[in-house]
Amino acid sequence: MFPNAMRTIADFQAFHRWLDEQKGWGPDLKLNMVLLAGEVGEVANELRNIFWRASLLEPEMGEEAAREAALAEYRENLGFELADCLAYIFKIANNAGIDLEAAYKAKMAKNVQRQWTAPPPGNHQ
Ligand SMILES: [Mg+2]
Repeated sequence: MFPNAMRTIADFQAFHRWLDEQKGWGPDLKLNMVLLAGEVGEVANELRNIFWRASLLEPEMGEEAAREAALAEYRENLGFELADCLAYIFKIANNAGIDLEAAYKAKMAKNVQRQWTAPPPGNHQ
């Protein structure tokens, strides 16, 4: 089914190079960014469904049980939409020539050292 075991981030990137070739999907970064944004919206829609369902269940079940029940109903769909986002991230990394494992490790090393503070008013970074 898959051309490799997909155990590492490099494996996932290789899978997406293979899949793009199999499907004839091009390396258009702008298109893939638009498609990623669409998938982020689909994640938001699944979360909206979860919040809405939980609000309906809450009067009879209480807040925590309602949230868990709603999550159970939508967990598979939410997982699929998160997976779609990840797929486009792998594709964009591939098409931009980025070793995502190396980039991730380098950025997380920075984050470990970083101190987050509230930005001053007007700073929208
Ligand atoms: Mg999707």
